[in-house]
This record gives sequence, structure tokens and C-alpha cells, in this order.
Amino acid sequence: MNKLKAIIFDLDDTLYSERDFVLSGFKAVAAWASLNLGISEEKGYATLFSLYNAGIRNNTFDRWLTINDINRPEIVAELLDIYRQHLPKISPFSESIELLQALSPSYKIGLVSDGYLEVQQKKWSALGLDDFFDAVVFSDSLGRENWKPSTAPFQLVLEQLKIDPKFSVYIGDNPRKDFFGARQLGMYTIQVKRTESEYGNLQPPGLDYCPHLTIDSLVEVLTSIDKLEQHQALF
Ligand SMILES: [Mg+2]
Repeated sequence: MNKLKAIIFDLDDTLYSERDFVLSGFKAVAAWASLNLGISEEKGYATLFSLYNAGIRNNTFDRWLTINDINRPEIVAELLDIYRQHLPKISPFSESIELLQALSPSYKIGLVSDGYLEVQQKKWSALGLDDFFDAVVFSDSLGRENWKPSTAPFQLVLEQLKIDPKFSVYIGDNPRKDFFGARQLGMYTIQVKRTESEYGNLQPPGLDYCPHLTIDSLVEVLTSIDKLEQHQALF
């Protein structure tokens, strides 16, 4: 009989690739800019794509306007709106669906996800995973101060699932914020650290930010849960 009762997931870069969301947003921005700024859609997208591949994660749209000789910084807010409000074309990792199918007969399934509420809701509806989930918490609905690593969104998901923290596992990718709040409550934690992971190599700020287990892919989740079941006393 399982001791663990609930498996709770992070969203971005855990159940789908956040890069796909970013590129989908860039496509929406490039389409808008071709109509409104006279930048060719194909070229506009190619430039955004190369900025992303070069590791640019801040002020992307400012840089992009500069590259295109457009000196209208007031447009950046508009581009950000288009990016955040577009209907994303994203899909879950294939192993996400296989895993959820395998887990859902035996465990309650939950989500705790950070990010702007509207953006996360659009991603969530595009991914089509909702039927697998018994509780979904977007931390932004509790206010910006309750984004991870706050314990608040974890508390809420556990309340909704009616599960004691010590019988639950949180699976995420980012050691800066995913595991601290969960561990504070007594949940188990697993980091999925893909080779192409954007945040996986960030240094956890302290020991209590570290996951109990680290795996390379969601494929290893079932084995990890077995390990946690067998060795609960070790943690
Ligand atoms: Mg994440």
C-alpha cells in the first residue's frame, strides 16, 4: 500500500518546455510587428530566436527594436502584452502524459505554478492536462508575495487535495525556488534536471533549497517514488 498519496507538479520546464512557450510568444510578436512596424515577420522572428539562442533573457524586445532601428521604447509594453496575452502553441512532453496516466489511478495529482496568472492559465489550457489533475494552484492568485519559494501555494494545494504534506511529493526543475517552500512543510521533493534545462544548474541558496532526489527525466519519476516509499525514514 502506498504511503505517499499525492504527486504535485511544477509547470514550466517540468511538464512542458518553457522554450516552446517563449518561441510561440515571439511568433505572435513578429506577426504583430509585421503589420504594425513594417518588420518582415520571418526576419523579425529569426532575430528574436537568435537573441534567445544567444542567451538573452532580459530586455529582449528593447534590443530587438534597436536592431530594427526603431527608437520607440513605448512600444515595448505593447510587445510584452502581445507576448503575454497570445494563445500559446505548446504541448506537454510526451513523457508527461505517460507519467500522468501511470500515476493518476493511484495518487492524487496537483499543480503549483508561478508566473503571471493570465499567462499561466493560457499555458494550462493550451496543454490540455487538466483532466489528470485533482487540484491546480497558480501562486499568483494569492499575490506576488506568495510565489515560490513561499509555502503558501503548497499549503493551498495540500488543503485542496486533503493530503498531509508528509505523504506528498513536489516535482520541479528550479532549485532556487521549487523545493524550499515544499520542504518547509515536510513534503518530499524531486528535481527533474534535463540536459537542456534552463534553471537546473542554478545554485540552491542553501541546503534547505535542495531536492531530496534529482533525476534526468520524468521517465524516472516512478522509480524515484518507489525509492521514497521504501526509504521514507532516511529523509
Ligand atoms: Mg519550472
